[in-house]
Amino acid sequence: MGNIHGKVKINNHKLSIVSEKKPTAISSRTSNFEVCPGCDLLITKIQPKPGHTAACPRCSRRLHREHPNTVQRSLALSATGMLLFLPANLYPLLSFNVMGTKAESSLFHATLSMFAQGENLVGFIVLLTGFIFPMLTLSLLFWVSAGLFMGWKARWMTDFMRWYQHLTEWSMNDVYLIGVFITIIKMSHMATIHFDVGFFCFLGLVLVTISSQASVDKSFFWQEMSGDREEEDTGEAFTVSIHAKTGQEGGLVLCHTCHKAMLSTELARESHPHCPRCGEAIHPRKNGSISRSWALVVTAAILTVPANLLPIMEVEYFGQPDASTILDGIIYFFQEGSYGIGAVILTASILVPVFKITGMALILTSIHFRWQSWLKHKTLMFRFIEFVGRWSMLDIFVIALLCALVQFGYLSTINTAPAAFYFTLVVLCTMFAAISFDSRLIWDE
Ligand SMILES: [Zn+2]
Ligand SMILES: [Zn+2]
Repeated sequence: MGNIHGKVKINNHKLSIVSEKKPTAISSRTSNFEVCPGCDLLITKIQPKPGHTAACPRCSRRLHREHPNTVQRSLALSATGMLLFLPANLYPLLSFNVMGTKAESSLFHATLSMFAQGENLVGFIVLLTGFIFPMLTLSLLFWVSAGLFMGWKARWMTDFMRWYQHLTEWSMNDVYLIGVFITIIKMSHMATIHFDVGFFCFLGLVLVTISSQASVDKSFFWQEMSGDREEEDTGEAFTVSIHAKTGQEGGLVLCHTCHKAMLSTELARESHPHCPRCGEAIHPRKNGSISRSWALVVTAAILTVPANLLPIMEVEYFGQPDASTILDGIIYFFQEGSYGIGAVILTASILVPVFKITGMALILTSIHFRWQSWLKHKTLMFRFIEFVGRWSMLDIFVIALLCALVQFGYLSTINTAPAAFYFTLVVLCTMFAAISFDSRLIWDE
């Protein structure tokens, strides 16, 4: 079976190209092909050796990577994460000591601090991304891998796996941990800091969560759950033109979630087609992708103005309130000589949101005017926007922690200010803009 157009890159530290054959085949089975989820290129399916990564030759997207013992590892790591979850959230995290006055807080208390300040929307987002989603993703992964380990075949497993994939981006324990570090550095000038049990449990929880996500071999999980593995060669037979370059030209539609390739002729018979493997609704391209992304990018750009001009935090020091904007906070760090932290906050709170908005606007404009150059660079830029999106929540987590920890009455108190609301909306809009966007539109002619 020869390649149609693409050749898969196998990459093990260095890039090397294997098995290139002349395009010959005109008839095949869907199970012999793969369609790149990033750019829709039609490629012959190959199984990389353990430790190797297969990448798309056109847009360099990582297609799959063999993870040894993926089920056992995911099961062990998600179970450990679940054990650490409650101690990490409920035990005291840090305690501050200022002139004999002590204040301490658990992570969960900090998560709820925005509600205490009357910022209900920000509080709700912090509660979701800092507590509920991390807990849900760990439990979903635990049940799916436990099911696979036991050899169960149940409908709920595919539903759980689908939700797991959608929620991982919104589970922001890792961002929260960096927020804890920044809070510590911010407070180290004025208070004695004591690390409590909760801090070490939280550190462990974040490490375990990151490793559990890295241990999941999604294509293996989906194949195991649907039984595709045993019936490797039973994909529907179909004919594909040797001129077909993309999935669309070859009559194949890809599921957005589990990446199963299906024949568009089969799907055309149903009015609302769903993926037979994961149950997700199927569209050749994400529905209303361009208009939705535009609407969200424009909203984000407008909200950036109040988010940066209004104060985001109010520090009361000996009864003197002092409101500061995002930029004031960054300048403070540079003046204090903490250049590293200043740079981190500058990147997360100003550079990343601005980059996301201008980057998305540039990609959307280039699709509108059909600019056919720099396609690969635009795809890489989009992937970077997708990747960094969640890190802008950093400042919000820091404020939540400061509000919970710095409550020394007359001595010093920190409260949230109106820009926190607008800033959270900017982060949400830019993240949803990236989620609604379909990167294959960059490559569609
Ligand atoms: Zn590709
Ligand atoms: Zn699917």
